[in-house]
Amino acid sequence: MKRSVTILGATGSVGGSTLDLIEREPDRFEVIALTANSDVEKLAAAAIRTGARHAVVADESCLPALRDRLAGTGIPCAGGAEAVCDAARMGADWTMAAIVGLAGLGSAMAAIERGGTVVLANKEPLVSAGDLVTAAARRHGATLLPADSEHNAIFQCFDFERPERVRRIILTASGGPFRDWDLEAMRGVTPSQACAHPNWSMGAKISVDSATMMNKGLELIEAARLFPVANDALEILVHRQSVIHSMVEYVDGSVLAQMGPSDMRVPIAHTLAWPDRMATPMPPLDFVAMARLDFEAPDAVRFPALRLAREALEAGGARPAILNAANEVAVAAFLAGRLNFLEIAAISADTLDRYDPVAPESLEAVWAIDAEARRIAGERVKDGVA
Ligand code: NAD
Ligand code: MG
Repeated sequence: MKRSVTILGATGSVGGSTLDLIEREPDRFEVIALTANSDVEKLAAAAIRTGARHAVVADESCLPALRDRLAGTGIPCAGGAEAVCDAARMGADWTMAAIVGLAGLGSAMAAIERGGTVVLANKEPLVSAGDLVTAAARRHGATLLPADSEHNAIFQCFDFERPERVRRIILTASGGPFRDWDLEAMRGVTPSQACAHPNWSMGAKISVDSATMMNKGLELIEAARLFPVANDALEILVHRQSVIHSMVEYVDGSVLAQMGPSDMRVPIAHTLAWPDRMATPMPPLDFVAMARLDFEAPDAVRFPALRLAREALEAGGARPAILNAANEVAVAAFLAGRLNFLEIAAISADTLDRYDPVAPESLEAVWAIDAEARRIAGERVKDGVA
């Protein structure tokens, strides 16, 4: 029996890695739906190659172009954000949520509400609406699997039967491209420098998040949503080689680590075959060539995003959603050349200072908080941060 799969965000970095694995084993997988924001060329090509049953573009103005490219193939297509949610509802056994930002929340929830296995690469919905997402998964009997390399590593090492035996979860961080830079030099960082990650090849938004270390902050919150441990049992450790993807320490002092090449196809393959395993084209780790693994404490002065995320996690309620929204606005403004690199975290801090609504109890409330936090952050971008 083939496993049916849907990829939300099929034209992105994670989407492409997922397609690569699926296309290597056509006897094992069949594609139900592929979605993209606007890259119809890439989307149509992938839909044709994989024989997808549906192709959906979120930006409705791109639908005629998608239709042209799929003419004569018999692959139906649709456009608009609601059509992306409809694609998620088509009932694939396995759905990859790989849209970037909170824009992926609606379709990830639509997939969860159908049950089945939903793989969350898209971390922002877990940050902003974490409890609602995990509660929906429980209610609808969906299995959530983490594709984020750290959380996938923890998932592989974590004893869900006896979580009280876990003493610490250690999230590893490469430290990003500026781990050795001083603050003055960081101020002048350009978008292309920020997007050139030393160990991973990723989309622009997460690359900037890795450079500010907001990515690790978001991952701290993501880990709290996914694993039943106390917040103070979650630690961050800089490990520049990105060989150990995270670790779980037990009360007896044993530490289980998951290691692997720094290629997203490894954690994605884990979720794609789970609970089985499948081959990937990755060469085996060469421990002799590697020779050493280094570890250091993160620097909260040069990377204030770590402190902001820790505080948002501790305070809970709407704080993580505000942090995420402000960060999305600030990263987009930085990529557009409207903010300097250090102002990204400053915008988030400032938005958190200005806005403190009650905890959201519904998705509508999350969307409202997200919109207001974006408005405030957007004003600050316009006015110039202090
Ligand atoms: P990306 O920018 O390369 O791709 C994003 C995908 O989402 C594209 O297919 C794009 O068309 C689609 N998209 C963008 N905006 C959309 C919208 N408004 N509506 C519908 N679709 C939209 O991003 P990525 O690097 O693949 O990251 C995707 C998610 O996975 C992010 O949440 C990121 O944090 C997470 N993640 C990525 C990596 C990685 O290695 N790239 C690792 C771990 C986690
Ligand atoms: Mg990660």
